Amino acid sequence: MKDFKEELLNNFIFYTTFDTMSNPAMVGKSRPTTEGQKTLLKELEKELREMGLETTLGEEWVLRGFLKGNGKGKCLGFMAHVDTADDVMGDNVKAQVLDYEGGDITLPSGLVIKAEDNPELSKYVGTKIVTSDGTTLLGSDDKAGVAIIMSAIKYLSTHPEISHPDIEVYFTPDEETGAGMDGFPYESMKCSVCYTIDGSREGEVEAECFNAATVTVRVRGVSIHLGSARGVMVNALTILSQIASTLPQAESPEATDGRYGYYCPLEVRSTGTEGEMQIFIRDHDEEMFNFRIEAVKKLVDAIAFIYKGRADVDVHVSYHNMANVNKNDPSALDAVFKVAKELGIDCRAEIIRGGTDGARIAERMKISSPNLFTGGHNLHSLSEWVSIEAMNKAVNLVIGLAEGR
Ligand SMILES: [Zn+2]
Repeated sequence: MKDFKEELLNNFIFYTTFDTMSNPAMVGKSRPTTEGQKTLLKELEKELREMGLETTLGEEWVLRGFLKGNGKGKCLGFMAHVDTADDVMGDNVKAQVLDYEGGDITLPSGLVIKAEDNPELSKYVGTKIVTSDGTTLLGSDDKAGVAIIMSAIKYLSTHPEISHPDIEVYFTPDEETGAGMDGFPYESMKCSVCYTIDGSREGEVEAECFNAATVTVRVRGVSIHLGSARGVMVNALTILSQIASTLPQAESPEATDGRYGYYCPLEVRSTGTEGEMQIFIRDHDEEMFNFRIEAVKKLVDAIAFIYKGRADVDVHVSYHNMANVNKNDPSALDAVFKVAKELGIDCRAEIIRGGTDGARIAERMKISSPNLFTGGHNLHSLSEWVSIEAMNKAVNLVIGLAEGR
């Protein structure tokens, strides 16, 4: 295995100094949703150019780099996102490097990352772990992915003796807000497979995700002076709460795991006269997914009827399970397991109870888009940590995929 650890550590820490926390409240108002993402994208463009890649960074702020191939094979894509989540503060990150000797990790803020809650830590005794100072997240989701791709591309661009096909790299903004792929330059995309480097634990390969829809339920009631409401008033809020409580609680995110899908009412805004509620629907199985959408429609219709209100629903499908596309072209996943085996990385296929930007690519371009690990843990939290050892394995995996071994 080639050793990129020092370079990875330096690059990753450098990227964490860019304030790229995205802001869901700015979706639709500015792209990207925060200025800092532009600064990092410009920096990455500069670095890719220095490595000899052609780059484009259009007004949609998706950075594309193109490394001309010198060998056979179809064009390969690698993708990561530059923004970080806003679940906890994501700006002003002060990365801490630790030669991990085992046991709990106490961050400068006093926060403790407990070894018993983080069994994966035991793998990395005697190696370097990076954390934040405990007042912010670290941002390995997905700056570890960015650093992994940059090291792999740098290696390929400085080793012309290594034969590889054309390679595209994509760095996107606003993955965490869900808006990142809205302006993606699908038209100019050439790759036949696009790996996202946006996973977590070492060895994880994700090629299955949810089918996802948001059902917006709008209800209109009948308003009248409350003193003379008997038999006349129809309360929209009552209808919405009845709909929410009729959804099967055994099929909620808090009650399910694995391949079990769910209904989840998440947002309600209502007066007695009219109101609106959002219900998230998730299922890995396409048939069950469609069934759930129809079930919600029927349930809304029935409850509105009983309560003499009026209701309509609007279904927005966000993404589909990429498994179907991945199954059509199993070579993308097979290649990962083959290269990982040669490198001695213990890889396993996992299912995502969520989506990835790769799911959007798979759906639109009909190409495989598996998600590979970065070595980051406890993502979106103050106790986030990343293993440089695992990142190094990911770089070797990317290079191996490019070499087409
Ligand atoms: Zn991510």
